[in-house]
Amino acid sequence: MRIIDIIKADKPSLSFEVFPPKTSDTFDTIKGAIEDIARLQPSFMSVTYGAGGGTSEFTVSLSKDIKDNFGVTPLAHLTCINSTKDDIRARLVALKDAGIENILALRGDITEQNKDKIKFDYKYASELVDDIKSFGGFCIGGACYPDGHPEALSQIEDIKNLKNKVDAGCEFLTTQMFFDNNVLYNYIYKIREAGITVPIVAGIMPVTNASQIKRSCALSGTQLPPRFKAIIDRYSSNPEAMCQAGIAYATEQIIDLYANGINAVHVYSMNKPHIAAKIQQNISEIIK
Ligand code: FAD
Repeated sequence: MRIIDIIKADKPSLSFEVFPPKTSDTFDTIKGAIEDIARLQPSFMSVTYGAGGGTSEFTVSLSKDIKDNFGVTPLAHLTCINSTKDDIRARLVALKDAGIENILALRGDITEQNKDKIKFDYKYASELVDDIKSFGGFCIGGACYPDGHPEALSQIEDIKNLKNKVDAGCEFLTTQMFFDNNVLYNYIYKIREAGITVPIVAGIMPVTNASQIKRSCALSGTQLPPRFKAIIDRYSSNPEAMCQAGIAYATEQIIDLYANGINAVHVYSMNKPHIAAKIQQNISEIIK
């Protein structure tokens, strides 16, 4: 099924993101966790793609597994800075052969670990969107950043670039994690003003590990509001309490989003079935 048809339906959607293993020796454990998340029958599942290459072929095989064995629609991520045009064409053929209909088209982060693997056929995600669109047959999504992308010169410039990416062929946008819903509501107001009309899928991260979130926020530019910082300060040294508080905070954010008309919520479930299950259970009546 095409993601756009899922998120445009009246029923609120709840989807989960998972990531493939970095090495083959952890494949079975991670596949097991991903399958446990698929058993929850979310609206769809996205499978990330390593911009460092290496094991990125797992994105295709895990997406196919979710679809064929659990009947859950997959959204395969695809990054471009680490690829030549021929590499991307080969990935698109593999995705099509696997019967995958949805791609989240991304540039990929440039980090210390992958900077030597950067190829120069693509500079921005919009160029990848162009190529996927020309290839044909996929429902294409893109990423957007309510707290701003760390490299953007200004939010105005970032939104202009986003408009180009959408005009190239994105049918929906998934947000980077954010911890203050008002940031998202303001952002949506601004992108609508800029003429971006596609549906927004709100990305929510249930924070269960404080040190990990500090690293991710530094990389992604996401701001931590004081109310959330207080939770981290108070519970980061108590993993069980941090996990409970993180799930409660995410649940509260999600309920507020649905109540304010955001119909599609994507949870960064970090391959943790118990977290995905708990969130789904917390809002079971709301998403019925
Ligand atoms: P782009 O849309 O290309 O934007 C990147 C920056 O370039 C922005 O600052 C933008 O304003 C600017 N820009 C765009 N076009 C132009 C232009 N024409 N001229 C000047 N500036 C321009 N990374 C992975 O490696 N694997 C994943 O699976 C993955 N999944 C993700 C899922 C989501 C929902 C999100 C939000 C991010 C994900 N990322 C993933 C991270 C992503 O690759 C990084 O955030 C990356 O830095 C930007 O990717 P993008 O597709 O948004 O890039």
